[in-house]
Amino acid sequence: MASKRQQAYQDVLNRTPKHIEFDGRVSELFGKNVFHMEVMREYLPSEAFKSMVESIQNGTRLDRKMADQVASAMKDWALTKGATHYTHWFQPLTGATAEKHDAFFKPIGPGKAIERFDGDLLVQQEPDASSFPNGGIRNTFEARGYTAWDPSSPAFVIGKTLCIPTIFISYTGESLDFKMPLLKALHAVDQAAVEVCQYFDKNVTKVNATLGWEQEYFLIDQALFNARPDLMMTGRALFGHAAAKGQQLEDHYFGSIPDRVTAFMREFETEAILLGIPVTTRHNEVAPNQFECAPMFEECNLANDHNLLLMDLMEKIARKHDFRVLLHEKPFAGVNGSGKHNNWSLSTNTGVNLLAPGKNPKTNLQFLTFFVNTIKAIHDHADILRACIASAGNDHRLGANEAPPAIISAFIGSQLSTLLDDIEKNVKAGKMTPEDKTELKLNIGKIPQIMLDNTDRNRTSPFAFTGNKFEFRAVGSSANCASAMIVLNSIMATQLKIFKIAVDKRIDKGEAKDEAILKELQVIIKESKKIRFEGNGYGDEWVKDAEKRGLKNLKDTPRALKVWSDKNVAKLFNDLNVLTPRELEARQEIDFENYILKIQIEARIMEDVIQSMIVPVVIDYQNKIIQNIQGHIAVLGDKTGKIAAAVQLELLEKISNHLSKMKASSDQMLKARKVANNIEHAEDKAIAYCDTVKIHFDEIRYHADKLELLVEDEMWPLPKFREMLFTR
Ligand code: ADP
Ligand code: MG
Repeated sequence: MASKRQQAYQDVLNRTPKHIEFDGRVSELFGKNVFHMEVMREYLPSEAFKSMVESIQNGTRLDRKMADQVASAMKDWALTKGATHYTHWFQPLTGATAEKHDAFFKPIGPGKAIERFDGDLLVQQEPDASSFPNGGIRNTFEARGYTAWDPSSPAFVIGKTLCIPTIFISYTGESLDFKMPLLKALHAVDQAAVEVCQYFDKNVTKVNATLGWEQEYFLIDQALFNARPDLMMTGRALFGHAAAKGQQLEDHYFGSIPDRVTAFMREFETEAILLGIPVTTRHNEVAPNQFECAPMFEECNLANDHNLLLMDLMEKIARKHDFRVLLHEKPFAGVNGSGKHNNWSLSTNTGVNLLAPGKNPKTNLQFLTFFVNTIKAIHDHADILRACIASAGNDHRLGANEAPPAIISAFIGSQLSTLLDDIEKNVKAGKMTPEDKTELKLNIGKIPQIMLDNTDRNRTSPFAFTGNKFEFRAVGSSANCASAMIVLNSIMATQLKIFKIAVDKRIDKGEAKDEAILKELQVIIKESKKIRFEGNGYGDEWVKDAEKRGLKNLKDTPRALKVWSDKNVAKLFNDLNVLTPRELEARQEIDFENYILKIQIEARIMEDVIQSMIVPVVIDYQNKIIQNIQGHIAVLGDKTGKIAAAVQLELLEKISNHLSKMKASSDQMLKARKVANNIEHAEDKAIAYCDTVKIHFDEIRYHADKLELLVEDEMWPLPKFREMLFTR
């Protein structure tokens, strides 16, 4: 009889692509399921429409009457899309999104019913919040949490449900989600950037942070996924010997996309397009069965909602194609992991990208100002940037066998490096002569030209300038980008505020504006120099160099998360009104908890798979060998029989050796887990899980993977890497 694994593999071989056809061209489908501006114009009375626009653009509150009108329009529109239910859609700190569906339908008498949805229901809801993480913010007796409408992100219909993007807060008004602090951070950077823009252009009244994410993921066939308890429960293969062929040939990257995968991609992309997510790029990634999807960039809050929606969509649609999406940062040891590059910039209401070199010296100085201030922000707050991307999954990427490294640094390319070095050297301390100024202006004026042939690309840097934006590459594939965006925009806001004060001081002392800006830039170029690194971020050399420079290399999540309890960090977020110290503390607690749970589950699954799947199979195989050896001895006698069965004996010994070592490690891990479980304090417990539990993973796996190679293929219970990674 075929084993479960073989049956699963047979299923895979029998699959055919499921192409789904959509009516209409993609351009006609775009945003069709979104309650966007144009739909609002159509469905709303003009007064209400104006209030909505005002609210979307400036964050003003809608009054009750307007909210009623918007709710009623939203409902009417949603009914035309076949919606029967509505839900507040929010982002609890679990990392996923959450929803609680309610019907529009309301009985109003015997045999009578109406579809009801009013302003109250639109603006605020009270989901049962007790099952979401809160880091101690909600007392158990006060389990109430509220969701509140975010008008800046449009409502949409998925299936038969109207989804309304919302923030999620506790009864006492503290944020329990990612969206609320993100909106606050975006507001902070808007204000600070507008102030600085005023030096260059008085027409700038609003600055939006922009985010263009690139989502990497793996696909695996559903049948194989279901035959691997580790993948099912943790999203990564805790066991599995590398396939003989991995990514060495690099033949997957930009290779043709397999048919079944194309069918899946087409469907989820079309669904994404219907939801207004501007997906454009798709391609294979470096590792086998790894892919990437990247939409056009958008305003940060919307882009983030779209990323969360897309992750959700991918998972749903994948199942229809008998695939599973793996969003884990490192599902398969030995092949590349998955990240989510966060391309980030700032853009003004006047249509200027503040991180794109301008056309004349004035706009170039503006570019330089924002560019240099970003580097300074990264320099001063590298620790928080490291912390905001820390997770059990991302630990397998950062600083492990693959990069980006856990050391935060910024790459800017050789031309811009030269320019910054010039400014550092050539801006004179005293009053600048007209010649000095002309020369500098000439240099700055050259930026667009030097940028044109700026083909520098450094794939090993966690934070790289890529011509007109920075690319934060260290974000994990499964993360909510908001975590990174809250920090990036907050530290940028803080830095811009400091910069503004310093420049104003110089101007007050009589320096001309341009000169004051340049001189201040010179100061911060000097101060932030050590964060700039142009070399190979994967190399061992860099680790040593970084240490000399005094840059931190925090390799695991528990160490990285420590920074959240730093008083200065709390002050930074509090001053910006992004997170209160209490909210910050709660987040740290939740991050520790998440880490502990992830490692705990992995450890349990490992113990379980060993005990109930691997050990029994190995014993069966041992018995087979033992019988064979006994047969030899029975026929040939003890001495000759053993000589004749030398290979079998050697094999038996090897197997027994790995079996006992694997089991011993697993038992030790179980003991360590029991000790760790008795620790109360979250941080200590996380450290214990990292240093005393997780530390056994490699050893256990090493022996299990050796056994996979030694035990007869037919008998091995878990789908192998070559089956999971090379089946289409
Ligand atoms: P790659 O990094 O793969 O070489 P690109 O450099 O072309 O690709 O762009 C990557 C991503 O950067 C795209 O998803 C794009 O939407 C995004 N992007 C481009 N300009 C901006 C910007 N001003 N702000 C934010 N993201 C941007
Ligand atoms: Mg990229």
